[in-house]
Amino acid sequence: MRETTTHTPLADALAASSRAVAFSGAGISTESGIPDFRSPGGVWTRYNPGDFTFAKYVADPDVRRRAWRMRREFWASDHQPNSAHRALADLEQAGRLHGVITQNIDGLHQAAGSRRVVELHGTSREVMCVGVAPRVGTPDGCGWRGPTRWAFEALDMGVEDPPCPACGGIVKSATVSFGQNLFPGVIEEATALVEGSDLLIAVGSSLQVYPAAGLPELAASSGIPVVIVNDEPTPLDHLARAVVRGRAGSVLPPAVHAVL
Ligand code: NAD
Repeated sequence: MRETTTHTPLADALAASSRAVAFSGAGISTESGIPDFRSPGGVWTRYNPGDFTFAKYVADPDVRRRAWRMRREFWASDHQPNSAHRALADLEQAGRLHGVITQNIDGLHQAAGSRRVVELHGTSREVMCVGVAPRVGTPDGCGWRGPTRWAFEALDMGVEDPPCPACGGIVKSATVSFGQNLFPGVIEEATALVEGSDLLIAVGSSLQVYPAAGLPELAASSGIPVVIVNDEPTPLDHLARAVVRGRAGSVLPPAVHAVL
């Protein structure tokens, strides 16, 4: 493993690749103003994600009321994609990147122009019915989904825990909470993307949340080179062909544009 603060190892890896895949985490969106778990002053310094497990959410209306208030605060601003999101979209447009697998729920890869995006943890842009009495870990509601704007409008009208307009069940952000199963088919789609790739670029992830962090491990164990771009060490650095220490918005654009 080579560790560097220059962009050359990423540009070299991209030059040798024709079907790369990106794996992104919250760190790719911090330069768009969305805090990761560690950002000082970020929402996670005031809310404990452990308070919003799926089991607690479906069991307790008070948890749901607090979760909606937290979401409202988290997504109060209109966030825009940054140069790292755009560099990956450019690489896909050029036919050199076959997709992005993201742990993020913010939709910024799609907003930047990426077309094939596997959202491992769902999307904060939509809400969904999880049923009247959902089994823990398995969202099996009536099938209703709506834009998150619908829930925020209900909150503005004083409805603190808006029920499903179709069946009266519990509504939840269409994201995967702690203790909740991934949505069906998502990990299979991500695995197929990794297995069909010849390079995995992991960007802005602490590589600690599983099963997501198993994907770079799968790549490495399959002989697919992994390049990690992160501003701090990760537990998987030893698996990487190269580690580039730096900000995603500074590292990705020059490396990508060097090969386009
Ligand atoms: P994480 O918060 O655990 O780790 C982010 C990593 O990125 C950290 O190691 C941090 O040092 C690094 N980082 C921060 N800014 C960076 C930058 N500009 N350039 C390079 N590195 C940077 O994030 P994770 O690994 O994605 O896991 C957190 C979980 O929280 C995920 O499951 C995700 O679903 C969720 N989450 C998502 C968002 C979002 O959608 N934007 C935001 C917060 C949390």
